[in-house]
Amino acid sequence: MASEAVRVVVRCRPPSEREKALGCRAVVSTDSARGQCCIHNPGAAGQPPKQFTFDGAYGGGHSTEQIYNDIAYPLVEGVTEGYNGTIFAYGQTGSGKSFTMQGITDPPPQKGIIPRAFEHIFESVQCAENTKFLVRVSYLEIYTEDIRDLLGADTKQKLELKEHPEKGVYVKGLSLHTVHNVAQCERIMETGWRNRAVGYTLMNKDSSRSHSIFTINMEIYAVDERGEDHLRAAKLNLVDLAGSERQSKTGATGERLKEATKINLSLSALGNVISALVDGRCKHIPYRDSKLTRLLQDSLGGNTKTLMVACLSPADNNYDESLSTLRYANRAKNIKNKPHINEDPKDALLREYQEEIRKLKAILAEQMNTNNVSVGLLPAETTQLELKPALLPDFQPDVEAEKQLIREEYEARLAQLKADYEAEQESRARLEEDINTMRTSYNLKLSSLEENLRKEADAVLRVETLPDQAPLSSGLVVTITETEQVSNKDTAEPQIAQYIGSVTRETPGAEVAVAAEEVQVAVDKQQVLARLHMLEQQVVGGEQAKNKDLKEKHKHRKKYADERKKQLVAALQKFDEDSSDWVLLNVYDSIQEEVLAKSKLLEKMQKKLKAAETEIKDLQSEFELEKIDYLATIRRQERDCLLFQQLLDQVQPLIRRDCNYSNLDKIKCESIWDEDSGCWKLPELVIQKTSLPAAVPSLPQTKPARKSSSGEDGELLMSLQSRRL
Ligand code: ADP
Ligand code: MG
Repeated sequence: MASEAVRVVVRCRPPSEREKALGCRAVVSTDSARGQCCIHNPGAAGQPPKQFTFDGAYGGGHSTEQIYNDIAYPLVEGVTEGYNGTIFAYGQTGSGKSFTMQGITDPPPQKGIIPRAFEHIFESVQCAENTKFLVRVSYLEIYTEDIRDLLGADTKQKLELKEHPEKGVYVKGLSLHTVHNVAQCERIMETGWRNRAVGYTLMNKDSSRSHSIFTINMEIYAVDERGEDHLRAAKLNLVDLAGSERQSKTGATGERLKEATKINLSLSALGNVISALVDGRCKHIPYRDSKLTRLLQDSLGGNTKTLMVACLSPADNNYDESLSTLRYANRAKNIKNKPHINEDPKDALLREYQEEIRKLKAILAEQMNTNNVSVGLLPAETTQLELKPALLPDFQPDVEAEKQLIREEYEARLAQLKADYEAEQESRARLEEDINTMRTSYNLKLSSLEENLRKEADAVLRVETLPDQAPLSSGLVVTITETEQVSNKDTAEPQIAQYIGSVTRETPGAEVAVAAEEVQVAVDKQQVLARLHMLEQQVVGGEQAKNKDLKEKHKHRKKYADERKKQLVAALQKFDEDSSDWVLLNVYDSIQEEVLAKSKLLEKMQKKLKAAETEIKDLQSEFELEKIDYLATIRRQERDCLLFQQLLDQVQPLIRRDCNYSNLDKIKCESIWDEDSGCWKLPELVIQKTSLPAAVPSLPQTKPARKSSSGEDGELLMSLQSRRL
């Protein structure tokens, strides 16, 4: 499998009003033709600038549009082909991460990468031929190592990370929302963004202290020239990270410093993961050290195409942070990923939809068979998902065999559903609500359908064939009308009822496991139709397949990114040649010429040496600073631990002796660390009802110093007597 490096670009924003007012000098310069960025140390005027080379370098005059077209475009295009992609913005607070990811609407070229990705994805979807897509999005944030769903019913609820042997790491209970167009995506992004901002104003925090991940999940069903079908899945993570500044530098103290340490835990872990990946000697990559690194595991050294946008402030007072960002970025570009197209995903919803459509059509066709109505109507249809003629159900075969098949499948599903149901008992209320919503929507659709059917009944009977790419809904409306008029309820309906039992497991747009008992929905043929219609609406693709202009534009943008990459490589090569040591191999016409050339070279080498020496010193002092930070954190945590230990020692004698928590050492031994929830699992609190020996009469009774309001069981008995026991 071919590996490819993480792509890294830097973006230096223009000076802010505040920086101008403070009279800051610009210390960062970019050369976009070569993808180079230089930074001058304001404290050492004589020192040569430090130079870094990336896959792109953008200054204050560049727009997000240019960055997107140059480097993000091929990555997002890859997602529509079945590769995973991740784009993340890194940098200190106020350096332009959100500006780059979310962007602004005016001027339009500064629209962010996230909305651009929406437009791009839907353009590709609409231009695609013989391909259908199911697009779903999610939006989460990580704040102080807690994950919250920004689009969920309760945005304050903490979600857990889980690991699946095939799916990898995922967030349990994260809501997924099916989207059909750019406007929907934008609305969803705004909703999530508002949830993020509002939550934080309430808590007197700002978004720069949390990480957010907007994910676009795609399932792609394509039929190639040979008529073979392919199912693929891909996801695009768009990540806006928290500010990278060192918290000790910001002067945070007390609670705020504690909070800051936790906030930056994810970022330090990200740095450690990057270092470990780049350092060939490291066997262990510490992905598990934080939620962020666990979620981005595949984006760093895994099956993903990754782009990092390192954001910088140009001002001299941010020199340390800018240099640290550049170093971070420079390390990241050496990470090698192994992206590959995700073929045949196991849990693809699209496949389930496709199966459902096939079965629903088989049922409808069978009804027509039993009622001697020509089934010639059906094979002529092509549903939106069934692009390949071979996938169409064979309507002539043994009905019994088909029935048996459906029955067997139904039973298998039922068993699965029961298992799911038991596991998901607690979410029953939510499920019921979903089912009710679904029922209401069915009923609504049905009543409008019936209305239409009545009007069209006469005309419909005369219809013989349907146009090839007719929308599924209208085609089936026609078909079912005929069936209705001559239907034989006895044979057809039980099967439909059975079928609906098996298909209502998932409400598109929200991952819902439906309990077995709940699927006994009162059904009739129109419900099959309504379901078919709903399924058909979930997928998009090919709407503009015949729009030559759009396709041309699409192709052109793809080519542009390739050409720009070639130009960058050529410019760099030329630069390398200019500054390399080829001069040594030259034949000189005269001694003077040789001396001149070699002294130039010597001068260059001396500069390089000096730069390398400064680099070593810088790295050492940076390392020292980091060490001080870590040590301070350790010391503080040790103090915290000591406080808790002392508190425990103080209160332990107050714990009644018939309670298992009176022996804290034993409790410590029995406690288990749970990696998934990031908590200790403590033994249940148990009180053994044994009667205490009678009090010694000679000792004076001392009243309990404190009594809990919860009565006898919850009492913490404290008496001199029990202390002596
Ligand atoms: P961050 O998310 O890194 O904390 P922001 O994206 O909020 O930073 O940017 C801080 C400020 O700088 C905002 O007012 C933003 O509009 C401005 N800004 C950032 N990058 C640019 C840029 N490239 N051009 C113009 N203004 C920018
Ligand atoms: Mg921000």
